[in-house]
Amino acid sequence: MSVLDSLSEELSALDSAKLLRVRRTVQAVAGATLRVDGRDMLAFCGNDYLGLSQHPAVVEAAQQAAARWGVGATASPLVCGHSASHEALEAELAQFLGLPRALYFASGFTANVGLVPTLVGRGDAVFCDALNHASLIDGARLSRAQIAVYPHADLESLGRQLQASTARRKLIVTDAVFSMDGDIAALPQLLRLAEQYDALLLVDDAHGFGVLGAGGRGIAEHWGVQSPRLILMGTLSKAAGSAGAFVAGDARVVELVMQRARSYIFATTSPAMVTEALRASLRVIQTEGWRRQRLQSHAARLRAALADRTDVGKLLPSITPIQPLLIGENAQALERMARLWEQGIWVPAIRPPTVPAGTARLRISLSAAHSDADMERLIAALVTKV
Ligand SMILES: *Cc1c(COP(=O)(O)O)cnc(C)c1O
Repeated sequence: MSVLDSLSEELSALDSAKLLRVRRTVQAVAGATLRVDGRDMLAFCGNDYLGLSQHPAVVEAAQQAAARWGVGATASPLVCGHSASHEALEAELAQFLGLPRALYFASGFTANVGLVPTLVGRGDAVFCDALNHASLIDGARLSRAQIAVYPHADLESLGRQLQASTARRKLIVTDAVFSMDGDIAALPQLLRLAEQYDALLLVDDAHGFGVLGAGGRGIAEHWGVQSPRLILMGTLSKAAGSAGAFVAGDARVVELVMQRARSYIFATTSPAMVTEALRASLRVIQTEGWRRQRLQSHAARLRAALADRTDVGKLLPSITPIQPLLIGENAQALERMARLWEQGIWVPAIRPPTVPAGTARLRISLSAAHSDADMERLIAALVTKV
């Protein structure tokens, strides 16, 4: 068998296991409505939690920056890609978060892949929640540190693992909001463990930044905690509506990341049209608090409507825009997704191996771009009898 035949065989195996993925092509966007195959679909699948990806002030900032700076950064930040716009964005992010320093990365995935190996290496240990994002897992593997996985949210188990470890440097790594469940990491207890065992704590706030906390500062504001041991990473591709990520925290840690993270040093940074869009988003996050309130009221409305409808499915406990409706069997989840699709509503079904066997679910993702009428439409479609 030739090497190319072995690749086709791998594809056929995926196909037979019904694991082949297909992309749907979006032909137009208007708020939370996406046109697919010529049909307008009300979407509950994106991560644009505050509806900022199409905010007029954000779009205009990008347009003006494109005219002024062009559409490419031309180089990595340590060569000549770091513009006054990148510099200003980092200062504004640090100020907003109330942290000494922030560093901008062109994507969240590459930020994590660069961060973990910067903080730990051979002879060190990294302690990971079992449900951490793929980018954190890949970062841990690249680091060559010993990897200890603790069962999801099981801090007793984490404590035992930390106690047993003789590693030189210890790093605890967790998602802030778990992306398939919508639950929130217990930051105060995690920090206490970090202090007790002299560890660092890296928290991926991809789904909390812009959303959690009264001011939208994310997981740390939600819990009201601060610590130089806490290294905060957040994506700017979700609630901030554009692209990229930040790493923020103690100035020494951030400086080391800038000096060492390979995905920072050897990648072209985002064009200034992205960083200017993000500066505008950051202003909107601070001035339009009604977006977070609307998100909360949408979640409350959905949860109230489904509270006594065990026949419809069980919403996992979540105060975040991620509202997973537990179905159980894969076929049933797919059928529910198809039924919603027929009604012009796009909610993704999530199946193993993304989630544990027997816990297939509809992952409903809410946005301030949804109207009250959109929410009523979703609820009516969810409770419709087969
Ligand atoms: C989306 C996501 C990332 C990756 O961020 P991108 O900006 O999309 O590359 C990392 N971590 C978590 C938890 C995410 O949900």
